Amino acid sequence: MLLHDERVQLVEYCRRMQADELTVGTSGNLSVRSGNHIAITPSGVPYAELTPESICVLDLAGNRVEDGLEPSTEVPMHTQVYAQTDAVAVVHTHPLYACTLSALIDELPPVHYMIALLGGPVRVAPYATFGSPELARNSVRAMAGRFGVILQNHGATTYGDSLAKAYTRSVYLEWVCRMYYQARLLGEPNLLPAEEIERVAAKLDSYGQSAAARRRG
Ligand code: 13P
Ligand code: ZN
Repeated sequence: MLLHDERVQLVEYCRRMQADELTVGTSGNLSVRSGNHIAITPSGVPYAELTPESICVLDLAGNRVEDGLEPSTEVPMHTQVYAQTDAVAVVHTHPLYACTLSALIDELPPVHYMIALLGGPVRVAPYATFGSPELARNSVRAMAGRFGVILQNHGATTYGDSLAKAYTRSVYLEWVCRMYYQARLLGEPNLLPAEEIERVAAKLDSYGQSAAARRRG
């Protein structure tokens, strides 16, 4: 079985995505790149039923290299992200607060310093039908210089140099969306200047590293 470890990891993160309520039903899709291959979740399969065998393996152009289930409808978005960035993993979710804001705003502003994890204010990509090449194009364009994007009237997508990093960015993106939503209910929130977001982004490069190294022994 190609990409065994990546398949196991994807199933684990799909379960986590459900438990963390970052999506609903069979919405959302995850992928990991390894060399010239991409392991990606199948289309429309309940996360509770996923096994490593149900994960699909594609080449970088999105062609299937093994028989199996139908790959995610969002293959064009995933392959575009890999083509345009140095991503090793892509996480697409339908979380409630990002979805809510996606119908209202053009950009998630710097209302909390942790938006630096996404590279700065997160743009909302113009709406296009799910799974379409147009949605893939809009998403990648709106993601320029960022590690994430909100998709208008749809959801959110993040990437990283590992599945753990891409997933963490999805968690924080949803958290900042929720915080912004709540702050706006009460008034007009203060925003942070761009220089501060840059300063925090630099600090985050080493944040938690020594504790992680200690855990690894
Ligand atoms: P798939 O089940 O085909 O991955 O689609 C879910 C989704 O989120 C479409 O945008
Ligand atoms: Zn979607």
